[in-house]
Amino acid sequence: MFDSHYLPLINGRFTAFSEETFPASNAATGEELATITRSGKAEVDAAVAAAKAAFAGWAATPAAERAKLLLKVADWLEENTERLVQIDARDIGRTVFELPQDYRQAIGQYRFFAAAILTHDGWNNVVPGGWAIAKREPYGVVGQIIPWNVPSIMVSFKLAPALAAGNTVVLKPDENASLSTLELAKYLAEIFPPGVVNVVPGFGEEAGEALTAHPDVAKLAFTGSTEVGKIIAHAGASRLAPVSLELGGKSPNIVFPDIEDMDAVVDNTTFAATFCNGQSCLAGTRLFVHDDIYTEFMAKLTDAFRSIRIGSPLDPATRLGCLVSSKQGERVMKYIESGRSEARLVTGGERVEVADSQAGWFIAPTIFETGNKTTIAQEEIFGPVLSVIRWNDFDTMIHEANDIPYGLASGVYTSSLRNAMRTADRLQAGQVWVNQYVNLVDGSPFGGYKASGLGREVSKETLHMYTQLKSVMLAEQVPPPFYV
Ligand code: NAD
Repeated sequence: MFDSHYLPLINGRFTAFSEETFPASNAATGEELATITRSGKAEVDAAVAAAKAAFAGWAATPAAERAKLLLKVADWLEENTERLVQIDARDIGRTVFELPQDYRQAIGQYRFFAAAILTHDGWNNVVPGGWAIAKREPYGVVGQIIPWNVPSIMVSFKLAPALAAGNTVVLKPDENASLSTLELAKYLAEIFPPGVVNVVPGFGEEAGEALTAHPDVAKLAFTGSTEVGKIIAHAGASRLAPVSLELGGKSPNIVFPDIEDMDAVVDNTTFAATFCNGQSCLAGTRLFVHDDIYTEFMAKLTDAFRSIRIGSPLDPATRLGCLVSSKQGERVMKYIESGRSEARLVTGGERVEVADSQAGWFIAPTIFETGNKTTIAQEEIFGPVLSVIRWNDFDTMIHEANDIPYGLASGVYTSSLRNAMRTADRLQAGQVWVNQYVNLVDGSPFGGYKASGLGREVSKETLHMYTQLKSVMLAEQVPPPFYV
């Protein structure tokens, strides 16, 4: 299913200078799955040099040709989805129930950008005595750093637009989730010219820092925590390299009293808070429930949380697997402890043992009743923990929904168009999902307001992030002498 050892992909070859390795471990059982060569500055330097040397050729490759290769990546992922799902489930503890949807989304991104680049042009116009043309050109070498929670989606959000636009790439996967990316790298090495895509697995403070500091990296794209996003933004600012950031979230999910099917809304809000084992930047973790339906809604929600099937990530009936690591598990438990002292615990709140998966951090889906200003309601927990906030006044609820440093996603459940529209207008968030949480469609701009990021992925807008504009003015002839 996978190899026992992986190397970085540099200039079309799997190679490294370092002999140092780090393990990829099964998140549920603790078993070592494979070892990975740990990229350091030497590997990053070689990867950037390869991407720099490959850039002119790749940028000059017709867009249709670049698109053809992206379509091949999509086909390969489609053929290998089942195997890659098994790898991710072991590597990061996500369930085999959910992961196929990640791959469908990732595949969609390669196909979307293969199509989008063919219709992405600059601007041109006739001006007196000539033409004004605005061309979009790729930046050069792009350095990309991604987190561990949805590896296939993160890789697709980064590679597809950057490569479609004609950039070359050095990608650093997360140290907790490298395996499926390194499997994909084997296929990328087969079909892309050497140096166009390079993959340097390793740690943030080593390979990550070497990549962000490299003077030959012309653009940086990062997905991860807001804290590290600021470090990346400083690194870009210090040499004026543009930076795009997809960062954390603590998203409001708002239930109006006029909902028609309460069971369906309970199901969707439960999913919104617990999919990805709660480790999603998009998670709807602040649920605003209206006074008029509060008691009935909370009873149903509590039942739904208690019914979620926790178990081995490899069991198709499992809906909640384990957190990616013990570090993440301990962090979530600390938040739960702080919640116990500042809010009312409704259900959950403890670690659950799963047979044959003793190393895994399985956490019972947890609900707190709280105000909006507690630590558990304000900070991103990244585990299956939901803060429920009761509301009755529209303006107060909107104020509280926005009273948070983040602004990534939001949800609204209502049968009234007027409620949907006036809420969507006033929410400070990059995404507003009305009546269906996590409704991501290829082509719809994805990104954050405020501390949730800079830039938009998934859409044609993304091709602007990966290209810069050049104005070319063509005059019919050299003007007659007028200066000296
Ligand atoms: P993280 O910021 O700790 O790590 C993300 C990546 O950055 C990893 O590859 C890591 O090795 C690297 N890194 C860490 N320190 C670095 C440094 N000093 N220099 C360069 N690289 C460095 O985030 P995480 O804990 O792995 O992921 C969870 C976070 O990611 C959450 O905050 C979540 O909301 C966010 N996230 C956001 C999105 C989005 O699209 N907005 C998607 C997924 C995850």
